[in-house]
Amino acid sequence: LIARMRPFGTTIFAEMSALAVRTGSVNLGQGFPDTDGPAAMLDAAAAAIHGGRNQYPPGPGIPELRAAISAHQRAFWGLDYDPDGEILVTAGATEAIAASILALCEPGDEVVCFEPYYDSYAASIALAGAVRRPVTLRAAEGRYAFDPAELRAAFGPRTRLVLLNSPHNPTGKVFTAAELAQIAQLCVEYDVLAVTDEVYEHLVFSDATAPHVPLAGLPGMRDRTVQISSAGKTFSCTGWKIGWVCSTRPLVSAVTRVKQFLTYVNAGPLQPAIAVALESPPSYYQEFRDDLQRKRDQLCKGLTEAGFSVLQPEGTYFVTADITPLGGTDGVDFCLALPERCGVVAVPTQVFYDDVDAGRRLIRFAFCKRDEVLDEAVARLQRL
Ligand code: PMP
Ligand code: GLN
Repeated sequence: LIARMRPFGTTIFAEMSALAVRTGSVNLGQGFPDTDGPAAMLDAAAAAIHGGRNQYPPGPGIPELRAAISAHQRAFWGLDYDPDGEILVTAGATEAIAASILALCEPGDEVVCFEPYYDSYAASIALAGAVRRPVTLRAAEGRYAFDPAELRAAFGPRTRLVLLNSPHNPTGKVFTAAELAQIAQLCVEYDVLAVTDEVYEHLVFSDATAPHVPLAGLPGMRDRTVQISSAGKTFSCTGWKIGWVCSTRPLVSAVTRVKQFLTYVNAGPLQPAIAVALESPPSYYQEFRDDLQRKRDQLCKGLTEAGFSVLQPEGTYFVTADITPLGGTDGVDFCLALPERCGVVAVPTQVFYDDVDAGRRLIRFAFCKRDEVLDEAVARLQRL
């Protein structure tokens, strides 16, 4: 194995899901829902499979999916992307992120990101031979925030791009207009690109301090932003691995150059089904969010009653809890012992930090589960 990949073991999600299976625990670790997405989407996939759409789709993705992505971007975020040349379908957001970084970063280039970061970021940056410059999100006054001076200090002559995830996994933070404006201003000032991971774009709760705003919509950002999202979260089909990239023609062309040699194309018969899903009525998106908000409240209440110190997320389907009130001092030890102690699996947040101390006592629970599963997890955790 090449040296720069040696620090990366098995992803924490696979590790913790295997632990859940092995111990028969309730798995609130890896973020995947336990119910299916819209019936029309499932029917469309079955029809496509039985209708002979099982061969390689076109390189950029099938036209009706690109048209649906374009229409969705316009309807929700007021952003215009030409389906011919400004949109690329990928194997999930994961491939979109990896292909973007590999396409845009030379070895030694620096990538500014916010920690805790989604685990594939560090690996994709390392694969490109680039260097991550994390800026730490810290909990203060009930929300996670970064120090603007720390963000500014992370920029320099080698900065190539900013990798931003909002709504943010694992903290549930939704970056505010003021925070986005600071990031955009630095991107313009240093003339760097932004890659935005917006897979939780439809999961911002009604009591959040800010709505979701794509960075690409801020002044000076449309032409320097590679916007990424995925169907997995919004339509509860994480196993389908369909994501997309929206950007300028040259940037999409650069990302396509890499994507074509990673996977060539992906998920032929599932693409028409995601086109159908994206055309769901507004009520689908509203109900999806309301449902997850109710689940958030259910789990946050249960975790608080079990003794955790909980910071209520404004978005995503994750909640971060501090184990200190339960006598925990290290999230990895705590999560490894949790199945034995009470039959629940969570994810230690510290693995998403370079500054491990900043996340040492934090663990993450997913609440994209049926009510009875959440109730069972809470009942078990209350035995701690
Ligand atoms: N980014 C974030 C922040 C995520 O939580 C996930 C997990 N779904 C991904 C990217 C990967 O998305 P996909 O499954 O579409 O590759
Ligand atoms: N995005 C999901 C999470 O954060 C898991 C994705 C994965 O397993 N790679 O839990």
